[in-house]
Amino acid sequence: MRAARWLLLGLLVALAFSPGPAAQAPQPVSKPRIVTRSEWGARPPRCEFESNPCINAVTVHHTATSNEYSDAREVVRAIQRYHQDSRGWCDIGYHFLIDRDGVIYEGRPLWAVGAHVRGRNVGNVGVALIGNYEEAQVSERQMTALVELVSWLVKEYGVPLGNIRGHRDYASTACPGRHAYARLRELRLRVAQRVYGFGEVFGLAAWWGVYSERWSSERSEWERQVDEALRALKEAGVTTVFFLAKGPWGYVYYNSSLAPLSPKYSWDPLDYVVRRARELGLSVHVYVNALSEGETKPSTLLAEHLEWAVRGENDKPMGWVDPSAEEYVEYLVRLVLEIVRRYDVDGVQLDRIRLPAGAVRLPLSEARFREERGLDPSQDPAGFREYVAERVSEVVRRVRDAVKSVNPSLRVSVAVMPDPAIARGKYCQDWARWLREGLVDFVVIMSYTSFPAKFKEYLAAAVRASGNVRPVYAGVGVHLSSMTPRAMAEELEAAARAEGVYGVVLFNVDSLLARREPRGALRSFSEGVEALVRQGVGGSESPVKFWLLVMGPAAAAAALAIALLLRRRP
Ligand SMILES: [Zn+2]
Repeated sequence: MRAARWLLLGLLVALAFSPGPAAQAPQPVSKPRIVTRSEWGARPPRCEFESNPCINAVTVHHTATSNEYSDAREVVRAIQRYHQDSRGWCDIGYHFLIDRDGVIYEGRPLWAVGAHVRGRNVGNVGVALIGNYEEAQVSERQMTALVELVSWLVKEYGVPLGNIRGHRDYASTACPGRHAYARLRELRLRVAQRVYGFGEVFGLAAWWGVYSERWSSERSEWERQVDEALRALKEAGVTTVFFLAKGPWGYVYYNSSLAPLSPKYSWDPLDYVVRRARELGLSVHVYVNALSEGETKPSTLLAEHLEWAVRGENDKPMGWVDPSAEEYVEYLVRLVLEIVRRYDVDGVQLDRIRLPAGAVRLPLSEARFREERGLDPSQDPAGFREYVAERVSEVVRRVRDAVKSVNPSLRVSVAVMPDPAIARGKYCQDWARWLREGLVDFVVIMSYTSFPAKFKEYLAAAVRASGNVRPVYAGVGVHLSSMTPRAMAEELEAAARAEGVYGVVLFNVDSLLARREPRGALRSFSEGVEALVRQGVGGSESPVKFWLLVMGPAAAAAALAIALLLRRRP
């Protein structure tokens, strides 16, 4: 019954919608064209500006002036006259103004403290939309210009994403108007993707490794399977794949001059996937297992250098590398460089960038700690854990520097343990710090659970730890046999509503391909997610309303009718 219902829902959804827009490779963020003060005929400032020590916030306003204007320059001049003559300010209060055609005007200089949020002007960039957005909708050209301008400010000054806000977040005012205010989460999402992430608004990606039995070892059949998989992902609204380039077992899935190719392949899987994905407009990040070499037992490489290995019970070498194994870290960096130089990928993600569960000793880190601190780790166990966490962070930093040296627009991310305290305390994986200090562009938390309540807890803890400085994406465990399409839909909805969460990454493609229902749920989600985002945080929690929103009234009514026929409530 249940499967039949989902099949029908999926069918309805498939009939109701066409595929979404294609993803694009990350383009460098640059300063948008801005109409200068002399071009709009500004008066000089009336007095000396105070200067900003640093820039750490952007606040969106509206000018609350008429939406009917033929010459925006005249409106900007009138606002300047009003601010100078009636309010008695040095100059126009805002740093930038944007008209309905998306033209950006220079207000007071960025280095000067603005006059736009009483009590919170220092370090705060004021951007005003020209018009009244309590009454009118923001035009798409205006929204695009706002995204470009704020992206540049975030890129240039490292403004935390959570500090992109509206005037009414600070004071009791209608400004920037309800229609503009309703689009601020969308603004944060689009800026986050533009500067750090993937996709357009709410990121939708899937992890993909071609290691299971499902993937043919016969080349032409394998290529057919890959084409089919890419089409299915695109159909479901996925814009980005995270493709496994280096497995945890010590071999890789591309032609490397450094590491052995997976014994399953006699051709280059990554090369084919990148080319086909590009043709379909999908973006590709590679994911690389950083500190696992063999996983359960040392790989061939690690067996030749057992001194690098983390030791488990009875001092047994594990299939994991000590982050202080300098030679191995160099190997890892060269491997990553080889990938980003040879393949047209959008980013690199580190997986298993941590200690394994069951690690007992790290001989190399211990020796280094003794040498640098003059202490035995047993004399300062907490200090030693911190030291190891710093060694792991150093691996991330080295990989980040290498990738950005090839192309600064390439994304560097990490897949991490969802609970930040456990990640740091148990696995020496201090990802909240990596995010806050800009060591990575984004993190994906592996928040795999089929209990939506638990999933929401993971999200809340991760967002708190991230400070909403740079984006967190939520990993969804489609592979769990206990994950029903309903639970998955609830988790997707929770992620789309969570401030500080910028997208989802599904684990994994094999599971999505094996079952049609999750793909149906995914597709309806991807079609409705922008509406969901605009509806804002803390909106409807009702699944019926959710389906209405993502499917539209006609399809939802049909789904309800079918559900009634099946004598089950949706
Ligand atoms: Zn305002």
